[in-house]
Amino acid sequence: MSGSCGEKVLLGYDIGGTKIGIGLVTESGRLLGKRRVENKDTDPEEILPLLAETGKALAAESSLDVSDLAGFGISAPGPADIPNGILLNPPNNRKWRNVPILDYLRNALGIPGCFENDANSAALAEWFFGAGKGKTDFIYLTMSTGIGAGIVTGNALLRGKTFFGGEFGHVPLEMNSDRVCGCGHKGCYEAFCGGRSVALHLQELLKGQTDHPIVQFAGGKVEDIDMLALEKAVRAGVPLALEVWDEIAMRNAQAFGILLNTFNPERLVLGTLAWAVGDLYTAPILRYLPRFAWKEMTDACQIVCSELRRDIGYYAGAAAAMYFLLGKRVQ
Ligand SMILES: [Zn+2]
Repeated sequence: MSGSCGEKVLLGYDIGGTKIGIGLVTESGRLLGKRRVENKDTDPEEILPLLAETGKALAAESSLDVSDLAGFGISAPGPADIPNGILLNPPNNRKWRNVPILDYLRNALGIPGCFENDANSAALAEWFFGAGKGKTDFIYLTMSTGIGAGIVTGNALLRGKTFFGGEFGHVPLEMNSDRVCGCGHKGCYEAFCGGRSVALHLQELLKGQTDHPIVQFAGGKVEDIDMLALEKAVRAGVPLALEVWDEIAMRNAQAFGILLNTFNPERLVLGTLAWAVGDLYTAPILRYLPRFAWKEMTDACQIVCSELRRDIGYYAGAAAAMYFLLGKRVQ
């Protein structure tokens, strides 16, 4: 059950819509090896054996047998049957329906395994290996095409009675909003700030206006408007872009305020958009935050960017295994 220096070694799978990240990680956070398996339009019958083989190959490259590993974890996209480890119908993989991936890998690898949603797994990765290290109360926010939270409170991951805890992207911020969310509700946090929702909102606003500067930053096609085009337009001072950017900042601040006043965390760790865009994204949020959070809460909380950044997926599954299989917490 141990690798070099007597450390336990864990295998992690991060199931994405177009790729699956596989990482071999020691309990102190050394990434011994990583691989990427393409997952676009694939059949689970092809991919599952490849996942097991790749895990064994990664172990072998570190002079380990798979039986030397302390276990594996799967970081899974929703919707999923969390307690039974089944991928139900991930939206980006039409052929993946009701796939019992946890049982499959347990049998194929012959070691203990666990399964958790991707936002919680990413939070566990930041908790053990990144910006949440040593904190008993911290929150990780994925801020990408969608928005999710992993909430660690009182030295434990919040999961909820039926494992849906932490779906913070779907907390409504506005009652009478016409901003439609991917979940089917209106006015969710994600509907205002998720990359996919922001892009769709701008595409709707700019329909037919191919000479608008935001459309030009998207290469001249309204349907190609994305967060990157918006960011470029903001940097260029385009008035509509500045207006949309300001609304995103205010909605983020409102959401951060709810988190701070509810959980009183010591750290709030921000994912993709925050670190990819930088101060241009985070500074206006912090300016608005005092409107939405008590001073006691903002004084207690450092707001920082993810430390694991684009490698977070390689740590996520292993971090889930650390938490659920090894019982790791802050000592
Ligand atoms: Zn929603």
